[in-house]
Amino acid sequence: MISDAHFHLKQLLEVSPEQADFIKENIFKGICSCRTLEEVEFVENFIAKNPETVQKLKISFGIHPQAPDEKELKTLEKLVFENRIAAVGEIGLDRFNEEFAKTFDLQKKLFVIQLEIAKKAGLPVILHIRKAIQEVFEQIQTLKELKKVIFHSFSGTAEEAESILNHGVNAYFSFGNAILNGHKKAIETVRSLPEERILTETDAPYQPKKGDHFSKLSDLVEIMDKINKIRGCDSSATEAGEPAAKQSEGSMKNRHDEEKQ
Ligand SMILES: [Zn+2]
Repeated sequence: MISDAHFHLKQLLEVSPEQADFIKENIFKGICSCRTLEEVEFVENFIAKNPETVQKLKISFGIHPQAPDEKELKTLEKLVFENRIAAVGEIGLDRFNEEFAKTFDLQKKLFVIQLEIAKKAGLPVILHIRKAIQEVFEQIQTLKELKKVIFHSFSGTAEEAESILNHGVNAYFSFGNAILNGHKKAIETVRSLPEERILTETDAPYQPKKGDHFSKLSDLVEIMDKINKIRGCDSSATEAGEPAAKQSEGSMKNRHDEEKQ
Protein backbone atom coordinates (compact mmCIF):
# COMPACT_ATOMS: atom_id res chain seq x y z
CA MET A 1 0.00 0.00 0.00
CA ILE A 2 1.24 3.42 -0.96
CA SER A 3 -0.41 6.17 1.01
CA ASP A 4 -0.36 9.93 0.82
CA ALA A 5 -1.69 11.70 3.90
CA HIS A 6 -1.68 15.04 2.15
CA PHE A 7 -1.68 16.15 -1.47
CA HIS A 8 -3.50 18.54 -3.80
CA LEU A 9 -5.11 16.63 -6.65
CA LYS A 10 -6.26 19.57 -8.78
CA GLN A 11 -2.94 21.40 -8.68
CA LEU A 12 -1.01 18.17 -9.22
CA LEU A 13 -2.99 17.19 -12.32
CA GLU A 14 -2.55 20.70 -13.69
CA VAL A 15 1.22 20.24 -13.76
CA SER A 16 1.22 16.51 -14.46
CA PRO A 17 -1.99 14.95 -15.81
CA GLU A 18 -0.40 11.49 -15.95
CA GLN A 19 -0.39 11.38 -12.15
CA ALA A 20 -4.00 10.24 -12.49
CA ASP A 21 -2.63 6.95 -13.85
CA PHE A 22 -0.54 6.48 -10.74
CA ILE A 23 -3.69 6.63 -8.61
CA LYS A 24 -5.56 4.24 -10.88
CA GLU A 25 -2.77 1.72 -11.36
CA ASN A 26 -1.38 1.39 -7.86
CA ILE A 27 -2.60 0.14 -4.52
CA PHE A 28 -2.96 3.66 -3.29
CA LYS A 29 -4.78 5.67 -0.65
CA GLY A 30 -4.63 9.43 -0.39
CA ILE A 31 -6.23 12.45 1.21
CA CYS A 32 -6.86 15.26 -1.28
CA SER A 33 -6.50 18.55 0.52
CA CYS A 34 -8.78 21.34 -0.75
CA ARG A 35 -8.96 25.04 0.07
CA THR A 36 -11.93 25.99 -2.07
CA LEU A 37 -15.31 24.55 -2.93
CA GLU A 38 -14.16 24.45 -6.54
CA GLU A 39 -11.29 22.13 -5.57
CA VAL A 40 -13.67 19.87 -3.66
CA GLU A 41 -15.90 19.68 -6.72
CA PHE A 42 -12.88 18.91 -8.90
CA VAL A 43 -11.98 15.90 -6.73
CA GLU A 44 -15.61 14.76 -6.60
CA ASN A 45 -15.81 14.93 -10.40
CA PHE A 46 -12.53 13.07 -10.76
CA ILE A 47 -13.86 10.27 -8.55
CA ALA A 48 -17.18 10.21 -10.43
CA LYS A 49 -15.34 9.89 -13.75
CA ASN A 50 -12.93 7.29 -12.36
CA PRO A 51 -15.08 5.08 -10.14
CA GLU A 52 -12.13 2.76 -9.44
CA THR A 53 -10.69 5.58 -7.31
CA VAL A 54 -13.66 5.87 -4.97
CA GLN A 55 -12.02 3.77 -2.26
CA LYS A 56 -8.64 5.36 -2.85
CA LEU A 57 -9.30 9.06 -2.47
CA LYS A 58 -10.67 10.98 0.48
CA ILE A 59 -11.35 14.71 0.56
CA SER A 60 -10.38 17.18 3.23
CA PHE A 61 -11.32 20.84 3.30
CA GLY A 62 -10.15 23.62 5.54
CA ILE A 63 -9.31 27.31 5.65
CA HIS A 64 -5.58 27.41 5.09
CA PRO A 65 -3.59 29.62 7.48
CA GLN A 66 -1.86 31.28 4.53
CA ALA A 67 -5.24 32.49 3.25
CA PRO A 68 -7.40 33.04 6.30
CA ASP A 69 -10.81 34.00 4.96
CA GLU A 70 -13.57 33.93 7.54
CA LYS A 71 -16.28 33.70 4.88
CA GLU A 72 -15.08 30.20 4.05
CA LEU A 73 -16.36 28.93 7.40
CA LYS A 74 -19.76 28.67 5.73
CA THR A 75 -18.26 26.45 3.05
CA LEU A 76 -16.72 24.21 5.68
CA GLU A 77 -19.98 23.93 7.58
CA LYS A 78 -21.88 23.13 4.41
CA LEU A 79 -19.40 20.41 3.37
CA VAL A 80 -19.49 18.86 6.85
CA PHE A 81 -23.29 18.96 6.91
CA GLU A 82 -23.49 17.35 3.48
CA ASN A 83 -21.02 14.64 4.50
CA ARG A 84 -18.70 15.46 1.64
CA ILE A 85 -15.40 15.53 3.50
CA ALA A 86 -13.49 12.93 5.51
CA ALA A 87 -11.32 15.40 7.41
CA VAL A 88 -11.01 19.09 8.24
CA GLY A 89 -7.77 20.49 6.88
CA GLU A 90 -5.41 21.73 6.16
CA ILE A 91 -5.94 24.15 9.00
CA GLY A 92 -3.45 25.64 11.39
CA LEU A 93 -1.01 28.43 12.03
CA ASP A 94 1.80 29.82 9.96
CA ARG A 95 4.19 32.61 10.78
CA PHE A 96 6.98 31.39 8.59
CA ASN A 97 7.45 34.87 7.14
CA GLU A 98 6.33 38.42 7.84
CA GLU A 99 3.49 38.33 5.38
CA PHE A 100 1.88 35.33 7.07
CA ALA A 101 2.66 36.67 10.54
CA LYS A 102 0.49 39.72 9.79
CA THR A 103 -2.66 37.60 9.80
CA PHE A 104 -1.70 35.52 12.81
CA ASP A 105 -4.56 36.69 15.05
CA LEU A 106 -7.13 35.84 12.41
CA GLN A 107 -5.37 32.52 11.75
CA LYS A 108 -5.66 31.68 15.42
CA LYS A 109 -9.33 32.55 15.54
CA LEU A 110 -10.13 30.42 12.50
CA PHE A 111 -7.94 27.57 13.75
CA VAL A 112 -9.88 27.37 17.02
CA ILE A 113 -13.27 27.57 15.29
CA GLN A 114 -12.33 24.89 12.78
CA LEU A 115 -11.07 22.57 15.52
CA GLU A 116 -14.45 22.93 17.20
CA ILE A 117 -16.29 22.16 13.95
CA ALA A 118 -14.17 19.02 13.51
CA LYS A 119 -14.75 17.98 17.11
CA LYS A 120 -18.52 18.34 16.81
CA ALA A 121 -18.55 16.47 13.52
CA GLY A 122 -16.26 13.71 14.82
CA LEU A 123 -13.83 14.31 11.95
CA PRO A 124 -10.02 14.08 11.94
CA VAL A 125 -8.02 17.24 11.38
CA ILE A 126 -4.98 17.82 9.18
CA LEU A 127 -2.72 20.50 10.56
CA HIS A 128 -0.33 22.88 8.87
CA ILE A 129 1.86 24.39 11.57
CA ARG A 130 4.96 26.51 11.05
CA LYS A 131 6.69 28.46 13.76
CA ALA A 132 3.67 28.18 16.01
CA ILE A 133 4.07 25.02 18.06
CA GLN A 134 3.49 26.90 21.32
CA GLU A 135 0.02 27.93 20.13
CA VAL A 136 -0.66 24.30 19.28
CA PHE A 137 0.02 23.36 22.88
CA GLU A 138 -2.47 26.05 23.92
CA GLN A 139 -5.12 24.00 22.12
CA ILE A 140 -4.01 20.68 23.52
CA GLN A 141 -7.26 20.05 25.38
CA THR A 142 -9.30 20.36 22.19
CA LEU A 143 -6.78 18.30 20.25
CA LYS A 144 -7.18 15.51 22.80
CA GLU A 145 -10.90 15.45 22.13
CA LEU A 146 -10.45 15.03 18.40
CA LYS A 147 -10.74 11.69 16.69
CA LYS A 148 -7.38 11.99 14.99
CA VAL A 149 -4.83 14.77 14.49
CA ILE A 150 -2.48 14.58 11.53
CA PHE A 151 0.47 16.95 11.55
CA HIS A 152 1.24 17.40 7.87
CA SER A 153 4.92 17.96 6.99
CA PHE A 154 5.66 18.11 10.69
CA SER A 155 8.38 20.67 11.24
CA GLY A 156 8.65 20.52 15.03
CA THR A 157 11.24 18.63 17.02
CA ALA A 158 11.19 15.01 18.11
CA GLU A 159 10.62 16.19 21.69
CA GLU A 160 7.62 18.28 20.68
CA ALA A 161 6.08 15.33 18.82
CA GLU A 162 6.65 13.11 21.83
CA SER A 163 5.12 15.69 24.14
CA ILE A 164 1.99 15.95 21.97
CA LEU A 165 1.59 12.16 22.22
CA ASN A 166 2.30 12.18 25.94
CA HIS A 167 -0.51 14.69 26.40
CA GLY A 168 -2.85 12.01 25.08
CA VAL A 169 -3.50 13.41 21.60
CA ASN A 170 -4.22 10.75 18.97
CA ALA A 171 -1.57 12.36 16.80
CA TYR A 172 0.07 11.23 13.58
CA PHE A 173 3.01 12.93 11.93
CA SER A 174 3.46 12.83 8.20
CA PHE A 175 6.71 13.29 6.34
CA GLY A 176 7.57 13.81 2.71
CA ASN A 177 10.41 15.00 0.56
CA ALA A 178 11.87 17.03 3.43
CA ILE A 179 13.51 13.83 4.65
CA LEU A 180 14.91 13.11 1.18
CA ASN A 181 16.17 16.69 1.06
CA GLY A 182 18.08 16.17 4.28
CA HIS A 183 16.03 18.16 6.81
CA LYS A 184 17.66 17.22 10.09
CA LYS A 185 14.75 17.84 12.46
CA ALA A 186 12.37 15.81 10.33
CA ILE A 187 14.89 12.96 10.06
CA GLU A 188 15.45 12.97 13.82
CA THR A 189 11.70 12.89 14.47
CA VAL A 190 11.22 10.00 12.04
CA ARG A 191 13.96 8.13 13.88
CA SER A 192 12.45 8.56 17.32
CA LEU A 193 8.66 8.34 16.89
CA PRO A 194 6.78 5.06 17.36
CA GLU A 195 6.40 3.73 13.83
CA GLU A 196 2.61 3.53 13.97
CA ARG A 197 2.58 7.34 14.39
CA ILE A 198 4.45 7.99 11.13
CA LEU A 199 2.63 8.70 7.88
CA THR A 200 3.91 9.53 4.41
CA GLU A 201 2.89 12.41 2.18
CA THR A 202 3.97 14.35 -0.89
CA ASP A 203 2.08 17.66 -0.49
CA ALA A 204 2.13 17.31 -4.28
CA PRO A 205 2.83 19.33 -6.26
CA TYR A 206 4.28 21.76 -3.70
CA GLN A 207 7.27 20.08 -2.03
CA PRO A 208 9.67 18.77 -4.68
CA LYS A 209 12.74 16.70 -4.13
CA LYS A 210 15.92 18.63 -4.77
CA GLY A 211 16.29 18.93 -8.53
CA ASP A 212 12.60 18.35 -9.32
CA HIS A 213 10.10 21.06 -10.20
CA PHE A 214 7.20 19.56 -8.29
CA SER A 215 6.49 16.67 -5.96
CA LYS A 216 4.66 13.67 -7.34
CA LEU A 217 2.97 10.58 -6.00
CA SER A 218 5.74 8.21 -7.04
CA ASP A 219 8.05 10.07 -4.62
CA LEU A 220 6.25 8.10 -1.90
CA VAL A 221 8.25 4.98 -2.68
CA GLU A 222 11.53 6.73 -2.05
CA ILE A 223 10.09 8.43 1.01
CA MET A 224 9.06 5.05 2.46
CA ASP A 225 12.49 3.59 1.68
CA LYS A 226 14.15 6.54 3.33
CA ILE A 227 12.00 6.16 6.46
CA ASN A 228 13.04 2.52 6.66
CA LYS A 229 16.70 3.45 6.28
CA ILE A 230 16.48 6.17 8.93
CA ARG A 231 14.85 3.74 11.31
CA GLY A 232 17.45 1.10 10.55
CA CYS A 233 15.18 -1.27 8.68
CA ASP A 234 16.35 -2.81 5.43
CA SER A 235 13.46 -2.20 3.03
CA SER A 236 14.67 -4.93 0.67
CA ALA A 237 13.98 -7.42 3.47
CA THR A 238 10.41 -6.23 4.00
CA GLU A 239 8.03 -8.99 5.02
CA ALA A 240 4.27 -9.06 4.90
CA GLY A 241 2.63 -7.83 8.09
CA GLU A 242 5.11 -5.10 8.81
CA PRO A 243 3.85 -1.59 9.44
CA ALA A 244 2.73 0.67 6.62
CA ALA A 245 5.90 2.69 6.32
CA LYS A 246 7.85 -0.43 5.55
CA GLN A 247 5.63 -1.71 2.77
CA SER A 248 7.18 -0.04 -0.22
CA GLU A 249 7.63 -3.16 -2.30
CA GLY A 250 5.53 -4.10 -5.29
CA SER A 251 2.87 -2.34 -7.32
CA MET A 252 5.19 0.38 -8.61
CA LYS A 253 5.66 1.03 -12.27
CA ASN A 254 8.06 3.93 -12.13
CA ARG A 255 10.70 4.71 -9.60
CA HIS A 256 11.37 7.46 -10.41
CA ASP A 257 13.42 24.96 2.27
CA GLU A 258 10.68 24.27 0.04
CA GLU A 259 7.32 25.95 -0.26
CA LYS A 260 5.03 24.07 2.05
CA GLN A 261 1.38 24.36 1.10
ZN1 LIG B 1 -0.56 21.13 1.34
